[in-house]
Amino acid sequence: KLYNQVQDLKGNIRVYCRVRPQFGAQLNSLSCVDNIDDRTITVLAPTKNGKEGRKSFTFNKIFSPSATQAEVFSDTQPLIRSVLDGFNVCIFAYGQTGSGKTHTMSGPKELTEEGLGVNYRALGDLFELSNQRKETISYEISVQMLEIYNEQVKDLLATDSVTKRYPLYLTYVYLECYISQSGINVPDANLVRVSSTSDVINLMNLGQKNRTVFSTAMNDRSSRSHSCLTVHVQGKDLTSGNVLHASMHLVDLAGSERVDKSEVTGDRLKEAQHINKSLAALGDVIASLASKSSHVPYRNSKLTQLLQDSLGGQAKTLMFVHIAPEYEAHGETLSTLKFAERVA
Ligand code: ADP
Ligand code: MG
Repeated sequence: KLYNQVQDLKGNIRVYCRVRPQFGAQLNSLSCVDNIDDRTITVLAPTKNGKEGRKSFTFNKIFSPSATQAEVFSDTQPLIRSVLDGFNVCIFAYGQTGSGKTHTMSGPKELTEEGLGVNYRALGDLFELSNQRKETISYEISVQMLEIYNEQVKDLLATDSVTKRYPLYLTYVYLECYISQSGINVPDANLVRVSSTSDVINLMNLGQKNRTVFSTAMNDRSSRSHSCLTVHVQGKDLTSGNVLHASMHLVDLAGSERVDKSEVTGDRLKEAQHINKSLAALGDVIASLASKSSHVPYRNSKLTQLLQDSLGGQAKTLMFVHIAPEYEAHGETLSTLKFAERVA
């Protein structure tokens, strides 16, 4: 019963677009967003010879700058709930640095109840729903937190093996990713059982600390790596004894902005190349799923290998594309929307 709901593949890929508010000095300045309604966004797209132009894009849903975290979550909730029925889910945030990806997935730096992002609300919902079902199904919920930087996977929840304390383990490892029976594709990464939203908040804080160890003010690596919170669910039907496994990946992608190749060299260039490659690989995978192509190129990046079992098949995928509304961002905004259009 849990697995027989075969759906149209394309119906399993959704794209939501969220436009960030303008702040401070930019507040009353020109915006590159001309108009938005429930499903269509129109942006300024000046032509090369300086003529004014406009381009419209249609997605499953557009969230205006005034949309709250709760509103964004309410349109995401059904997808999340399906994890408890055995569906794999993948939700990721795409957009240039500063466009609001982390805001959507985690929330603002100073976290308040209303500010809680999709990650926390998703887990909270899973706890609540699993509790409602506890007479019939016994669920176990565990999480992993990984980072992909320069095509290397790091366990953000690794503990110091001696002190057993977080945070800890600063080496990058080429963790293997593969499709396993249990659904745990990175078996060497720590898997931590969670049972409340505060458990999740604590873990995310630890993972975040680990993540910033390598970042300096000059070199904020968090915008140039992908971070992935993976939720593993195991449910045992108390009558039949059948066990289901499902996983959900919640991914805050590296910033999609192009870097000017003439200006960057060395490490920065290498980072940029890895990001371009992995975001392109992700776009290719989703586009080939959307077009029902028989070959889906999962092997082209660590990111798509990691997410493989949550992209395609019966899995449900949601991409949040983030738009920075400043006029100066119009070039990036247009390329972000074009990326999203390929998969929508
Ligand atoms: P990204 O992760 O894409 O680099 P952030 O999520 O860090 O971007 O957002 C940049 C800044 O804008 C942060 O200070 C964030 O709190 C703020 N911000 C982003 N989206 C919103 C929003 N929808 N409402 C209010 N503030 C936002
Ligand atoms: Mg961010």
